Amino acid sequence: MRSWPVWGLPTRVLWPVLLVEMCAVGLVASQVVGLTLTRDHLVSAAMLAVLGALHTEVSFGLERVRRRIVDGNYVDLASVWTFSAAILLPAPLAAAVAVVVVGHLWFRAWRRQTPLFKFSFNLAAVVLACLAASAVMAAVAGGPVPAADGDARLVAIVLAVLAYTTVNSCLVAGAIALATARPDPTTVFASWNENLLELATLCLGAIVALTFVVNPLLLVLVLPPLLVLQRSVLVSQLEEKASTDGKTGLLNAAAWHTQAERELRRAERRAAPRAVLVVDLDHFKHVNDRHGHLAGDEVLAAVADALRAEVRDRDLVGRFGGEEFVVLLGTLGDPQDGAAELTAVAERIRGRIAALRVEMPTADGPLTVAGLSASVGAALYPDHGRDVRTLLQVADTALYAAKRAGRNVVRMGMHLPAPATGSPRAG
Ligand code: GH3
Ligand code: MG
Ligand code: MG
Repeated sequence: MRSWPVWGLPTRVLWPVLLVEMCAVGLVASQVVGLTLTRDHLVSAAMLAVLGALHTEVSFGLERVRRRIVDGNYVDLASVWTFSAAILLPAPLAAAVAVVVVGHLWFRAWRRQTPLFKFSFNLAAVVLACLAASAVMAAVAGGPVPAADGDARLVAIVLAVLAYTTVNSCLVAGAIALATARPDPTTVFASWNENLLELATLCLGAIVALTFVVNPLLLVLVLPPLLVLQRSVLVSQLEEKASTDGKTGLLNAAAWHTQAERELRRAERRAAPRAVLVVDLDHFKHVNDRHGHLAGDEVLAAVADALRAEVRDRDLVGRFGGEEFVVLLGTLGDPQDGAAELTAVAERIRGRIAALRVEMPTADGPLTVAGLSASVGAALYPDHGRDVRTLLQVADTALYAAKRAGRNVVRMGMHLPAPATGSPRAG
């Protein structure tokens, strides 16, 4: 027991984790006293546990891939079964279903990556979420779904969904925040997509519980849509991963190019001016040489954040490679004077990068990197070109003009020389 990895946790994490686990055990134990279980209860619990295990068996390959590509807090789909148990059965029995379903999922899929202490905390969080949902059912509808008062049942289920997800996500987020050096809401709380998935899973859990009351055999119908949901979520997460630059979270070059082409085709129909900016950090090699590549990476991520913050949501920001970024500005506000607006946006971006102070922890203490600058080349659609390739060429030529002009400046593109016409004479 002394060699258990749990004792390696810092005290600020260890005690809250143990407290949550003891709360879960204590609350379940307190409800076991005086509990009367019917045969129906036991059969229902066994069916939910078996279906949950079956679901894990057919889907753990999918879930392993999903977990590999989701950064930070990850939502699994076992709550279909644990939540339906929570609103269908007496709380201690729902906790038993959670132990079987979550335990089986861990054993089959995560045991190699997830140490026992993390699993037991996750399980405790699920059990406490089940107790919260069960308490809501009792308070609002007088008991679990089969015994619930008809009129209040729907309201009770909706509130139980909220209670379950709030308790579960806050406990997990709290543990991640305590264990992370620099907690940040995007990794502590799951992403919007993951939270929506959790909500969809809990709605399915509610449908499972209601179906159970009508005819438990109908539950066989729940598995296929559940697997299709899981697969389509995986496909969209893979798509997102494939189009994202890992270091900065911006679009990668290929995805930026495809989306920019699409945007320009839309622009053709609307005859609205657009623009392309190429932003290249000045003397970035010096940042790496002075502070190291890891610090350089932090600076790239901070510049990416600055770019995103300086343009609108519908503008496309991408990392083109190295320390070079590209922006496609959708409709410029003033169709008559696109160039003036474009210069203003480019100047704002240049100024923001020049004002950046990137703070980061290092082995030698906190480090602040400041004094950055960037050169910016700009091209206007349709004045300088009508396709992405031409606009990029024009903006890139302007960028080189900015570098030659001494860096930390913006240069607007010029028309490219027209390509030579006529076929070359045979010599
Ligand atoms: P200039 O003002 O002419 O643009 O000078 P520069 O040093 O920025 O340009 P140069 O092309 O000579 O060097 C680019 C540097 O960017 C070299 C490389 O080490 C660094 N770099 C490229 N990609 C990454 C990356 O992903 N992380 C880090 N830390 N550095 C990178
Ligand atoms: Mg550079
Ligand atoms: Mg460069």
